Amino acid sequence: MRRRSLLSAAAAAPAIGAAIAAPLPGKIALEEHFITPALLGYLAETKSPEPEFARAELVRRMMDFGEQRLAAMDGAGVARAILSISGPGVQAEPDGARATRLAAEANDALAGEIQKRPDRYGGFAHLAMQDPAGAARELERCVRDLKFQGAMINHHTLGVYLDDPRNDVFWEALQGLDVPLYLHPADSFRMPHVLEGVPELHKPVWEWTTETSTHALRLIVTGVFDRFPRAQVILGHMGETLPYMLSRLDSRYGFTATDRRIRRKPSDYLRGNISVTTSGQFDDVPLKAALAALGETRVMFSIDYPYEDSDTAARFIENAAIDEATRARVAAGNARALMKLPG
Ligand code: MN
Repeated sequence: MRRRSLLSAAAAAPAIGAAIAAPLPGKIALEEHFITPALLGYLAETKSPEPEFARAELVRRMMDFGEQRLAAMDGAGVARAILSISGPGVQAEPDGARATRLAAEANDALAGEIQKRPDRYGGFAHLAMQDPAGAARELERCVRDLKFQGAMINHHTLGVYLDDPRNDVFWEALQGLDVPLYLHPADSFRMPHVLEGVPELHKPVWEWTTETSTHALRLIVTGVFDRFPRAQVILGHMGETLPYMLSRLDSRYGFTATDRRIRRKPSDYLRGNISVTTSGQFDDVPLKAALAALGETRVMFSIDYPYEDSDTAARFIENAAIDEATRARVAAGNARALMKLPG
């Protein structure tokens, strides 16, 4: 089997006439996934649409921390990948105690792999939000003891969103530790009526986008960032459409929201508390929208390995129609600053 052609045949060879440059080295990538045997069952539950053989290959890649992953990083000029569990993980575990135990085991396993290649890998903590105080303690352990760069949470936890006041203890820890939360997509808690009968729009095609952007807007309009003004959230997929929406969100919120819970305009929080990555969005149009809407410090390179092709992601940012200073910020500088990574 030709591995490179598995998910993206187009990436196997550059088009005739395309610019072929040496990969821009030193990139940092933030939505790069792994899986542990204990968490495989939750991944299977999402019933993702890939064919069975592709699913098996994806799992194989996510369990590899050696040659194959490093070769993909080298080919794309990625110096450092911040690794995270491929969701939903324990966000979907009904037994809270079991979720807490499995999350800690996953974090320990990741720490072991980072220890082997501390120059190449970092980590986002996997957290059981079934117990917000326990998740806050686990985040502290992961950042202070295991030297992780933050946390990734796969959307809702059994239908509870992160704006729920019970999660304030978690936000307090996140803000206190000065690390970001990567809010990653997952399936809706209940399939919305508008998506019934159109499986073509389910999962990453559209469902995950509206789920995750709405989750981020919940954080904003319920005042999470008024309570925790220094908390920082990262959204993948160039911001799940939100950078395109600032003007309308502000104008209609100002016009129709009668029971306001926040001090500022929605766009102020989007510009002050949200950063986005290029994961799975290798297109100049949303890239330019995100840079223009959020500012050049709030857009960061990512791939979404192994679901996206590393070379396609790399060539996109290397050839995007942006100035070189901005390219350097997106490729690595912004992530380095946000997560205080060594240069
Ligand atoms: Mn992902």
